[in-house]
Amino acid sequence: MDHFLYRDGALFAEDIPVADIAAAVGTPFYVYSTATLLRHFRLFDEALEGLDHLVCYAMKASSNQAILKTLAQAGAGMDVVSGGEYRRARAAGVPGEKIVFSGVGKTAAEVQLALEGGIRQFNVESEPEMQVINDTALAMGVVAPITIRVNPDVDAKTHAKIATGKSENKFGIPISRARDVYALAATLPGLEVIGIDVHIGSQLTELEPFEAAYVKVAELTEQLRADGHSIRRLDLGGGLGIPYARDNQAPPLPMDYGAMIKRTLGHLGCEIEIEPGRLIAGNAGLMVSEVIYVKSGEDRDFLIIDGAMNDLIRPAMYEAYHDIVPVIEPAPGVEPATYDIVGPVCETGDTFARQRQMPPVAAGDLVAFRSAGAYGAVMSSEYNSRPLIPEVLVNEDQFAVIRRRPTFDEMINRDSLPSWL
Ligand SMILES: *Cc1c(COP(=O)(O)O)cnc(C)c1O
Repeated sequence: MDHFLYRDGALFAEDIPVADIAAAVGTPFYVYSTATLLRHFRLFDEALEGLDHLVCYAMKASSNQAILKTLAQAGAGMDVVSGGEYRRARAAGVPGEKIVFSGVGKTAAEVQLALEGGIRQFNVESEPEMQVINDTALAMGVVAPITIRVNPDVDAKTHAKIATGKSENKFGIPISRARDVYALAATLPGLEVIGIDVHIGSQLTELEPFEAAYVKVAELTEQLRADGHSIRRLDLGGGLGIPYARDNQAPPLPMDYGAMIKRTLGHLGCEIEIEPGRLIAGNAGLMVSEVIYVKSGEDRDFLIIDGAMNDLIRPAMYEAYHDIVPVIEPAPGVEPATYDIVGPVCETGDTFARQRQMPPVAAGDLVAFRSAGAYGAVMSSEYNSRPLIPEVLVNEDQFAVIRRRPTFDEMINRDSLPSWL
């Protein structure tokens, strides 16, 4: 459920007409709903009620300061995957003890940054990384809390570019080698082993792969405890999918996911952490764009819009589907038109949808991409020298620009000339 609904014939973001925002900031732009962000965070929080738990928002999904602050004020921790994200989380007021550091390539400088600023735990992804965290902690005279990310070798049944839990993926330590790696960790005085981490992929639409992984984590917990390790925290990653297409079978609900976690892991008495990103932010955002031209091709009509692959790369990168709807509500019973919906970037890959049926629109009309709140603005670029598009946050009847559109001069002046030119 989201808070982008038609009212009196026009699309609203909470209590604000989307067209009013377009008039204020220009197109294209992203708009997010506070109510939807909070609703999704609370669904996870409530799903784990009864367990000692923390929901750490995977901020790589959408990391604007205003979004982080909205979620942090509701009690969310943060899952970060770079020093930049760590700094963003701290800048939004998230205390170090609620920040989890994930990712396969943490550098010594990033580890030091997090140890200085405070960290809940590092999720360690390899033995060499474990050594670097140990050495950095020892040099600073502190002890680093860690979990080890295990790769359970399960098929997440999602797009190959976002599956992470098969043995062929770069993530984690094969679960078959986990006991040896935990034994090594126990010998390193700069580390305190506190638990196990697992994250098998993104946009999962069934519970079975999660359950298969968590059953393996439960077994491993018992084995590691028998080996003498104190396993008291289980980080279960993120990955729960969202319904991108309205007519699709809906992915599992957070409540059912939580019930499965309790069933498979509840008896272990561990603190449970989860790291949802997409499900919190995805349906909390729209990308809004204006139709520049309707171009009639030989055998098809192209809708050429002012948003492009540099603004929203998911269709080009993952063949992702986004619902694209007119901002003026179509009249009931109107005959749908069929378009290839494309941006102005000079790549055939700059295609949002092929042969898409939607209500007919004309040049100058606004269209909204639904479910664009996660892996949207954060993955944007200035390819084709198109400035990054603004982000807007709505809260009931208020809205604010939370990242403004840079000017062309700002964009160009980031370049500098060498002395010989
Ligand atoms: C990307 C990522 C997440 C979030 O995944 P979603 O599918 O957005 O929920 C969580 N944990 C880790 C380690 C990740 O890399």
